[in-house]
Amino acid sequence: MENFEEALCRENFERIVGRKKHTKILEEILFNEYHLVRKLKKDKPCKESHVNSINSLLMIYEGLKPILKEVIGEKISKNPNIILDKNFREAGEYLFEEKKIRIGAGPESTVKMALAHEIVHHIIGEKFPMLSKTEKYIHFEEGLGRMIEKRASRIFERTEKKESYLLATFDDSLREIKNAFKYNCYINYRSIPKWVKIIDKIHERFEYFSGDDVKIKYGGMNLFINRYTLGNGVFSIFSKRYGDDFYKQILKSRDFSIFLKK
Ligand SMILES: [Zn+2]
Repeated sequence: MENFEEALCRENFERIVGRKKHTKILEEILFNEYHLVRKLKKDKPCKESHVNSINSLLMIYEGLKPILKEVIGEKISKNPNIILDKNFREAGEYLFEEKKIRIGAGPESTVKMALAHEIVHHIIGEKFPMLSKTEKYIHFEEGLGRMIEKRASRIFERTEKKESYLLATFDDSLREIKNAFKYNCYINYRSIPKWVKIIDKIHERFEYFSGDDVKIKYGGMNLFINRYTLGNGVFSIFSKRYGDDFYKQILKSRDFSIFLKK
């Protein structure tokens, strides 16, 4: 068995996102997410309660647990320390050393999806402490985090009849998949389709910047290769190829190499 940590290296993630056979898959994912986000933004948002107390945040955590157990396939072995920080300007973050989740105040859908994402970091940290010690494998965690968010948001949209859950997740995902597709085009000397250039123009939110960002200029566009681009790119491609549950097998067997050879 190939070393789990080696198989998860950034080079492998870049290779998977850049593979020629994945161009069509990425284009299709991008097309679907673009149209979903466009539709969500046109619809009138429904009124949402604002989460600004630790008690309501902890209630959300309790409600998330069974859903996450189902979609991750692992239960939360040790409860994380969760804090609500009203001055925090981001949706959420996980502090590995302290095993602490920090969440900013905000609309319920944003808070719930941010919490779902940070819990994934917590579970991976507990299960694979050797991965979390370093940020070297962070793209794996970000990919899994986004994948879990997407699945959970679809469940909440169905059960609570609120599209805001989808928007809280897919607006971010769209930006990441767009960069993954552009990277694939760049690697394969393919010109970027016009409709993708249009997404770039109308996309209101800013690109992420993280410590591992690589910015490339291609076809008059910027593309950002980072933990989110690579993680979401690989997880989205693999869920199309192997089914939505493919990662459960990786978490159970601690073997990623089975998905690298095909
Ligand atoms: Zn994350």
